[in-house]
Amino acid sequence: MAKVPELFGSMVFNDQTMQERLPKSTYKALKKTIQNGEPLDLSVANVVASAMKDWAIEKGCTHYTHWFQPMTGITAEKHDSFISPSGDGQIIMEFSGKELVKGEPDASSFPSGGIRATFEARGYTTWDPTSYAFAKDGTLYIPTAFCSYTGEVLDKKTPLLRSMERISTEAVKILNLLGKSDVTRVTTTVGPEQEYFLIDKEMYDQREDLIFTGRTLFGAKAPKGQELDDHYFGTIKTRVAAFMKELDEELWKLGILAKTKHNEVAPSQHELAPIFSTTNIATDHNELTMELMKKIAERHNLVCLLHEKPFAGVNGSGKHNNWSISTNTGENLLDPGKAPENNIQFQLFLAAIVKAVHEYQDLLRISVASAGNDHRLGANEAPPAIISMYLGDELGALVDAIIAGKDYKSKGTERMKTGVEVLADFKKDNSDRNRTSPFAFTGNKFEFRALGSSLNIACPNIMLNTMVAEVLSEFYAELEGKEDLDSALKALIKNTFTEHQAIIFNGNNYADEWVEEAERRGLLNLKSLPEALAHYIDKKNLDLFVKNKIYSEQEVHARYEIELENYSKQINIEALTMIDMAKKDIIPAVTSFTRELTDTALSKKALSDAIPTTVEENLIISLSNKLVCFAKKTAELEEAVIKATEYEGNNLAQATFFRETVFAIMQELRAVGDSMETETSAEYWPYPSYAELLFGV
Ligand code: ADP
Ligand code: MG
Repeated sequence: MAKVPELFGSMVFNDQTMQERLPKSTYKALKKTIQNGEPLDLSVANVVASAMKDWAIEKGCTHYTHWFQPMTGITAEKHDSFISPSGDGQIIMEFSGKELVKGEPDASSFPSGGIRATFEARGYTTWDPTSYAFAKDGTLYIPTAFCSYTGEVLDKKTPLLRSMERISTEAVKILNLLGKSDVTRVTTTVGPEQEYFLIDKEMYDQREDLIFTGRTLFGAKAPKGQELDDHYFGTIKTRVAAFMKELDEELWKLGILAKTKHNEVAPSQHELAPIFSTTNIATDHNELTMELMKKIAERHNLVCLLHEKPFAGVNGSGKHNNWSISTNTGENLLDPGKAPENNIQFQLFLAAIVKAVHEYQDLLRISVASAGNDHRLGANEAPPAIISMYLGDELGALVDAIIAGKDYKSKGTERMKTGVEVLADFKKDNSDRNRTSPFAFTGNKFEFRALGSSLNIACPNIMLNTMVAEVLSEFYAELEGKEDLDSALKALIKNTFTEHQAIIFNGNNYADEWVEEAERRGLLNLKSLPEALAHYIDKKNLDLFVKNKIYSEQEVHARYEIELENYSKQINIEALTMIDMAKKDIIPAVTSFTRELTDTALSKKALSDAIPTTVEENLIISLSNKLVCFAKKTAELEEAVIKATEYEGNNLAQATFFRETVFAIMQELRAVGDSMETETSAEYWPYPSYAELLFGV
């Protein structure tokens, strides 16, 4: 293996490669586009395309693809080869600026939420030069944005880029007002920590539920789960370590800053964290990371599960969106510095975020809503469905003091004394960890923890950037032209904290009392996707998106419909899979096992009345009773799935029916099934058990 610094970014057409391979003037023009968002000339694009093609061919590429992020939840690509006939029966390898800048995939097979119905099926992809092109599996990948013929956005990238523009514009205005005239651009940065499960491929192949839905729909608990806390940060098994090593190397080649890897809480659960980068690049990289996790796992005869809740009874998987804002002058706007009490600029940005999270808590909740994540949020694990913010002791006390109009003196950073001579003392972080908070301040960034493991991080970041941009614009309007800027600032900060303190909660988010307390504070508790999504089209939210030019009203409606429809489809697939498993595997298995029990009991009796058969008889009675109930629930589920089709045309009503009726019956069916599993001989049970799945690697 090459040394890591040589390996890193070797498959990326990055800044260094561009500098080496592009004429100076082309490089400069492209750089301007990347840094200032200036439009790109076709003549420049032609030169870039040609250099890119030569580079890609050296990396073994024969094809190129526009790579985009439609509303399907996964990335999309369509490969075209570089070949072009040269007239004499020969071919040459060609790639034009036009092909680099614009693609025309047929949009009709991607979800559009009704937008398409009124327009042409044609869709366009446009090169996003702020995210580098890369070579993978013989193809040159060009990150792009995707929109319809008439310009409606059909993807997650376009609104993300728009939201980044918005927050930059508004933050720059504020910073210039505060006297920082050298700030011309502000970017949001994200470091997404990714959780996942790895299980043995042979076991996976035996489970229809994992294959079709990514999670186990049946499965009795193993005798051992995560209760001993012996997996978290535990020694990494050889097979897993080999997977992680290869994953790191592949990610590094693509310029992805894979940094930390460790075992997570649940057995077979792991985590990978990259070093943070600009939000749109972090988004592309996280999509690639998830894709490579799956691909590389297969090479090790493993399967990577990215579902939010593959196994009942042990932790599910999430993603932590570490988010901050920094300037082109290299300042992190969320760094409180040594004395936050004197740092008015930090207080102002903090106040903006507090207000934004309070006013748009529904949008944050919506941004992480999915059928899979419903198993975590609102279900006694991970962060709860109630959105609140954790500021930690020091900032919490500062905010309290500001509200009360009192002076506050920061404790400064304390030294941590280990009490052991050979161990160095170290600086204490200025906030302890509160693992239960969905939105926690962690020193110089906020960590939004409610994301599901399979989510495209664009969605929550679109919301975050837009809502903070909106509040910053309101702040600017309030402060602009004020003669005594200092007092105006102080008053604004004080009023904002006072008005929005209800969103701040430093206690235990898992406690039942918090649910009641949150209700008293008027905070939302949106437990499921249908409940949350209903708020997407509230007037306040439509206004936010339209005013900030992120989406048109029609585009928000489209997204709302797509999410609801997608939710119903997923539960429908789960229900159908359960029915299939129940009828084809589980009922026959239990029947066979009880027949064996009956045969055994009868032959014992035939031998002698003196041989007791109570064990067999009791099992036969118990299993037969359960089987009756199981078959009844299966029939109920079949009926419910049919009934759900009656709601077609009303996506909200249909999703609600799937949640409240179909999903509820699935839970009941599962409970009976799992109970039968505990009484059925493993020889007869048709699927690998939880013990085998979770401890089998
Ligand atoms: P913690 O110990 O609080 O988890 P780490 O330093 O380990 O913090 O960082 C966790 C994640 O947060 C990493 O992906 C890291 O790159 C990211 N991160 C750190 N600083 C920032 C920042 N300014 N903006 C965005 N993400 C950041
Ligand atoms: Mg974390």
